[in-house]
Amino acid sequence: MIDHTGGAVRSGTRGEFGRLIPIRPATGNLVACLRGHRLDLDLYDKLKPYSHRYRLHGTLCEVCRAQDGCDPGARRLAEWAHLDVTVQYEPGAAPGDGLVLVAHAPVAGTRAGRIELHLDGTEVGAVTASPCVSCRGATLDYVHVAADYRRLGFGRTLVAAATARAPSYRWTAPLPDGPVAKSFRARIAMRRNGLPCHHPPRMRS
Ligand SMILES: [Zn+2]
Ligand SMILES: [Zn+2]
Repeated sequence: MIDHTGGAVRSGTRGEFGRLIPIRPATGNLVACLRGHRLDLDLYDKLKPYSHRYRLHGTLCEVCRAQDGCDPGARRLAEWAHLDVTVQYEPGAAPGDGLVLVAHAPVAGTRAGRIELHLDGTEVGAVTASPCVSCRGATLDYVHVAADYRRLGFGRTLVAAATARAPSYRWTAPLPDGPVAKSFRARIAMRRNGLPCHHPPRMRS
C-alpha cells in the first residue's frame, strides 16, 4: 500500500491511512471472522494486527484476505479492530488520537445519556439511551453514524457501549423510519417499546 501522506499528519479524514477497517465490540471468545470462517479450530491462520489508524488491536482472517484479493469489488472484511465498549471516557478526558468512546451524563431533568464515538477527536457517531433504575429497563433512543463511516460496525458498537452500562436491564428500542435505519434496527435484538415509564429522572449526584 502506498502512503501518499508521508505519515506526518493525522487529520482524521477518511482514506488518509487507506480504507477504514470494520470494528466490533471486543469479546473474550472469538469464534468466527466477519464472514463466518471459524477461528477457534486452528483450520487456517489468523493474525493479530494493530490498527494504527484506530489505535486498537484487531484480527485478520487469512481466508478472507485471499478472498478479498480475488475480488477487488468485495467489501474488505478480512481485518477488523476490537473496541472494548466498557472503556468510556468522560468528556475532555479522552485521548485525542484513535477511536474512543466518550460518555456524557444525562442532562439535568432527563434520563437520556449520550455516548459518542470519536476518531482522532472528531465525533463520527453517537447513541442516546434512557435507563430507569426503578423499572430496571432502558430505551435505546437514537443511534447515528456519520455518512462516511457507515457499514463499518460503528453503529452496533455504539449499541453495545450503551447496553454495557446496564447489561441486566430490559432494553427496548423504537422502530425508525427509512430503509437504512430499518435495516440497522432489525439487526438489534431488542423488542419495541416496553411498558411506559413514569418515574421522574433521578437527580444527579
Ligand atoms: Zn474470514
Ligand atoms: Zn421507570
